[in-house]
Amino acid sequence: MAPDRWLFWHRRDLRLGDNLGLAAAAAASPAVTGVYVFDPEWLEGVDLAPARLWFLCESLRELQQRWRQAGSELLLLKGRPVDVLPRLAEACGAAVVTWNRDVEPAARQRDRQVASALQARGRRVLVDWDQLLVPPEEIRTGSGEPYRVYGPFLRNWRGQVTARDAAGVLTPVAAPQGLVGLDRAALEPGAQALWQDLPLLAAVPTAGELGHPFDGADLCPCRPGEQAAAAQLEAFADGGASGSGHGAALFAYEPGRNIPSEAGTSALSAALSLGCLSPRQAWLASEAARLTARSDEALASITVWQQELAWREFYQHALFHFPELADGPYRPQWRQFPWDNERSWFEAWRLGLTGMPFVDAAMRQLTASGWMHNRCRMVVASFLVKDLICDWRWGETAFMQRLVDGDLAANNGGWQWSASSGMDPKPLRIFNPATQAGRFDAEASYIRTWLPELAHVATADLISGEIAPLERGDYPAPLVDHRLQQARFKALYAGLPKP
Ligand SMILES: Cc1cc2nc3c(=O)[nH]c(=O)nc-3n(C[C@H](O)[C@H](O)[C@H](O)COP(=O)(O)OP(=O)(O)OC[C@H]3O[C@@H](n4cnc5c(N)ncnc54)[C@H](O)[C@@H]3O)c2cc1C
Repeated sequence: MAPDRWLFWHRRDLRLGDNLGLAAAAAASPAVTGVYVFDPEWLEGVDLAPARLWFLCESLRELQQRWRQAGSELLLLKGRPVDVLPRLAEACGAAVVTWNRDVEPAARQRDRQVASALQARGRRVLVDWDQLLVPPEEIRTGSGEPYRVYGPFLRNWRGQVTARDAAGVLTPVAAPQGLVGLDRAALEPGAQALWQDLPLLAAVPTAGELGHPFDGADLCPCRPGEQAAAAQLEAFADGGASGSGHGAALFAYEPGRNIPSEAGTSALSAALSLGCLSPRQAWLASEAARLTARSDEALASITVWQQELAWREFYQHALFHFPELADGPYRPQWRQFPWDNERSWFEAWRLGLTGMPFVDAAMRQLTASGWMHNRCRMVVASFLVKDLICDWRWGETAFMQRLVDGDLAANNGGWQWSASSGMDPKPLRIFNPATQAGRFDAEASYIRTWLPELAHVATADLISGEIAPLERGDYPAPLVDHRLQQARFKALYAGLPKP
């Protein structure tokens, strides 16, 4: 008897290796077919970034090849998942449809609808976690509540990850091999007719073909695809093919992670967000690096990088437990904040024309490459909210519209952290952009890279933003005075109702 056909729906897990849902499907039946659905709602949504679409399409291109090598195929559909997946399941006579779970409120609602539609047509639906080292239901405070504060979450999370690692639960599972593809010629006439009606794409489109071309691919440090993610992880954690660990950026992550002119971070955010890499692969590579670390500083750096993986999980858990985060500030009094919301200032910020070079360099990096260094994300977010007194949600959307790694949980978490409206108990965090530039771009090399029109300006002036009009040329004078705006922001904040 022919084995049952299973469908595996890829969403944010664009890889074959260590894909828990796919591995479970392949263990149950070799007759697995992959599917990815281009949802027009997403393609037309306000949050779409050309850079992210580029990364997605190029990752899918490689994934499609990998499916062929594994003996089966990755189908591409265009349409609403709730409409097209049940039709596909019927056309190929799939007994089971399976996927990995997501934390985003809209994705969870969509998944519930898709599951109901499939079950209504007699298909079995199997779902479980893959994109987190610890599932959100499994980390609770002593009183059984989800964590609202990162520090205690980190301690619990680390303990659980370490225990799982010791128990072998995190050991990556191999990519499936020897799968059995679908023989369309052997389908019954009724099924053949259903196939003809499916909105199948013949090939993976480019971002441009989908109407959102991205021309910054060469500048983007995040490289699409499973193989590139593995190579990037190896180079970061192991120093490259030699495997000696010598020269790995991970060993100098602290303080290298704070210098935006250097490649001191992994640039794996897009790969982790779209699942070209699993969090287990990332974690285990960093644990393996402990064995070759030659100093306390290197060991401490590894710990700090693992804490960043914990931030990723903290924000995903938070969004899972508190879906209302997606709709606005976690702290209710922030809903009443009297933002200035000066549209022309926001535009200046978005375009990198505020007259504060460190901020503008970062915004130009985002526009040109689809990515921005974490230190700079914190600085430009603080600047928009606390110097320009613009609603942080404007910035949140502007980031999503350009980031290659744009991710609701991490982006919303980062913006709420910067705005002081989130779960973090510290109420007011205000970055002075000149002080930040002086500390983290002391030679102004980052500023000069992204603001080439100011390359001739003295370093001290680039850092302070106090550039003489003749030197400045067409570059704008500072839009605001940090000291005055900071005082104004504090006064407005003081007027908010106390929690
Ligand atoms: C305002 C703001 C918006 C942000 N928006 C996003 C976003 O949309 N998507 C995104 O992935 N990250 C976001 N971040 C977090 C962080 O800036 C990026 O994850 C990081 O810069 C990616 O670079 P990297 O891969 O080299 O990170 P590394 O320093 O190498 O860190 C390793 C991984 O840990 C995770 N990580 C690191 N820092 C954080 C953090 N603070 N929060 C959550 N996860 C983290 C990422 O998956 C990252 O790839 C945002 C931060 C701020 C302040």
